Amino acid sequence: MVTQLDQGNIVLPGTYLSTIEEFMPGDGTYDKQGLVYAGVVGRTFYDMINRKVNVIGFKKNYMQTLKKAKSLIGVITSVDEDMAQVYIIAADETRFLRPFSGVLHSSQVSQKRLEQITLAVRIGDIIRARPLSAAVPLPLTIKGKEFGVLVAHCSQCGGIMKKIDDEHVKCSRCGQVENRKLSNFTMVKKHGS
Ligand SMILES: [Zn+2]
Repeated sequence: MVTQLDQGNIVLPGTYLSTIEEFMPGDGTYDKQGLVYAGVVGRTFYDMINRKVNVIGFKKNYMQTLKKAKSLIGVITSVDEDMAQVYIIAADETRFLRPFSGVLHSSQVSQKRLEQITLAVRIGDIIRARPLSAAVPLPLTIKGKEFGVLVAHCSQCGGIMKKIDDEHVKCSRCGQVENRKLSNFTMVKKHGS
């Protein structure tokens, strides 16, 4: 029998949910030899009226949220020749999200062709990006003035970089100058300006 505790439980694919006599298999579930199992990672929803058990997938809900976002905030976690991995942490500047992985390809930085992704972003940078489509990992673009690096970290010493012109930043600690694709978007008023 379904107890109150079972409703809304977090389940993994293959978790037993009920017999087919108790509840029919609904969204995010499958049945095997008269038993219903979870097909996705999510929360259980036992529909008492229709006698159907569903698993509301995290990914499905989440992809909808991400797809609807006008902008996403993420941290660059790794870079190679033409691709950067992004750890997405917020949407539309205000809503914090369950971290999700995104990718930024060098063709999605600006109109002109970029030789290396490190001319635009580096590990530890915080970027403002836009989702391109609902896929896993989420493909991102930073084309457009309001998209790009919000906070840059020095690849030499990890210090905070300050903007010196549209494409360059300088480390406030060691003086290193590096390239970035900067965003003109400001979340908070800069200290002292
Ligand atoms: Zn530095």
